[in-house]
Amino acid sequence: MTAPRVAIVGAGLAGSLMAVLLGRRGFHVEVYERRGDPRQGTAEEGARSINLGLSRRGLKALREIGLLDSLRPRTVPMRGRAVHRPDGQIDFHPYGTNDDQILHSVMRGDLNVALIERALSFERVRFLFRTAFERLDKDKGIAYLTDEETGEELTVAADAVIGADGVFSAVRREMQRGEPADYRQEFLDWGYKQLTIPPAADGSPRTLLEAFHVWPGSERMLIAQPNHDNSLTGTLFLPLRGEGGFEALTSPATVERFFRTHFPDALGLMPDLVREFAANPVGTLVTVRTSPWSHGDKAVLVGDACHAVYPFYGQGMNAAFEDCLRLDACLRTHPDDWATAFRRYQESRKPHTDVLADLSAEHFTELRDRLRSPLFALRKQADVALHGLFPELWQPLYTMVSHTTIPYADALERARRQERVLRRVGGGAAALVGLSAACAVTWAAARRRHGR
Ligand SMILES: Cc1cc2nc3c(=O)[nH]c(=O)nc-3n(C[C@H](O)[C@H](O)[C@H](O)COP(=O)(O)OP(=O)(O)OC[C@H]3O[C@@H](n4cnc5c(N)ncnc54)[C@H](O)[C@@H]3O)c2cc1C
Repeated sequence: MTAPRVAIVGAGLAGSLMAVLLGRRGFHVEVYERRGDPRQGTAEEGARSINLGLSRRGLKALREIGLLDSLRPRTVPMRGRAVHRPDGQIDFHPYGTNDDQILHSVMRGDLNVALIERALSFERVRFLFRTAFERLDKDKGIAYLTDEETGEELTVAADAVIGADGVFSAVRREMQRGEPADYRQEFLDWGYKQLTIPPAADGSPRTLLEAFHVWPGSERMLIAQPNHDNSLTGTLFLPLRGEGGFEALTSPATVERFFRTHFPDALGLMPDLVREFAANPVGTLVTVRTSPWSHGDKAVLVGDACHAVYPFYGQGMNAAFEDCLRLDACLRTHPDDWATAFRRYQESRKPHTDVLADLSAEHFTELRDRLRSPLFALRKQADVALHGLFPELWQPLYTMVSHTTIPYADALERARRQERVLRRVGGGAAALVGLSAACAVTWAAARRRHGR
């Protein structure tokens, strides 16, 4: 039997992982990527995030393809949130009580290159960079592409085309053209800009390294994630318009005044702030919900192409990796009927990625507005402590989303059930306060454990 031939559009995170999974099963895989080869440092990043938080779901995918151990030295553990107060003090909130409950920060480029190299270790996998997908004959599985360097048109016939081409997917557009398809795109009226906290002159980190940093605020928010070279990458989230928005920060003086007023301690961490601010683009934040995710046995979508979410839960890539594992599993279960495999894949994923979209939007409010509230901090303490005491009975929603592989909708359902029980047993907030006091010992132990 001849090996199936698959064309993947997009050599980002989902496309490259998909190439590994299909390559190791002996498929002929060709991956077409519009950008340059990231192994040669030629992939223009634009406003895309420089580093990403890998959580349990993403780690599972990397472990499954044998990449986790070799990648680990290039990741930095994030053991909790470092919440910056206006006076410059940091409150550290551990993510959990054990070493499984941490996130791992990794550079997008490092991860992408590692996935591409792994995929290329399979002899039937090829990557073609600077090759842009244009059109699709979705009934025949024929993709039309352009070589961006020569302008030459390429026609590729495949058993199936996988659209891993991100939030503004051209494969999705082509696949759904003329079909009764749902498509909803929501832009947040906030954008983001990436900034750098470089290492100090002696090479040491300028602030606590193994943490996810947040400077919360309902009208502006700054976060920062660590890199293995002791730098941190900051992301400033602001309304796009208005006096307090990006459009008002047009000169070095306004930028410096803005940081001095709202993030004075961060200003001290970013010596190159003004130049970087002018040089780096403002990125937009989009949620995409769509259906169907496939067309017969000829086309299917993975990752942001079928479910882009706001980045506030740090789950977009993690969810994209879960898609790839799921699609691979469905192809294994239905090797001779890809139309069914693709349908089953969507049926098993979409209810969960829809919930993730909602959770990601809600988490924006949590990070922005609630992090500095003492009641909220108490509630988080109670959650972590209760989980430490009764790990089977009590799993906070954040823990289930970030530190387990419980499907997102099931995690939400379980969290709601727990809330109902807690309310019945203890009468709501009063019980939480009491419980949190009782559990303070566990919380303190977690802080000690993480070195704070
Ligand atoms: C600020 C920010 C922070 C984030 N932080 C996190 C985080 O901490 N954790 C997390 O899990 N997720 C995070 N995400 C989300 C994560 O970046 C995405 O979910 C993830 O990149 C999706 O992977 P993908 O492969 O589906 O799409 P992409 O990574 O966007 O890859 C798509 C690829 O397709 C290529 N392409 C597009 N069109 C064409 C075409 N016509 N022809 C050929 N190639 C094409 C693109 O060049 C690109 O390489 C964050 C996102 C943002 C914006």
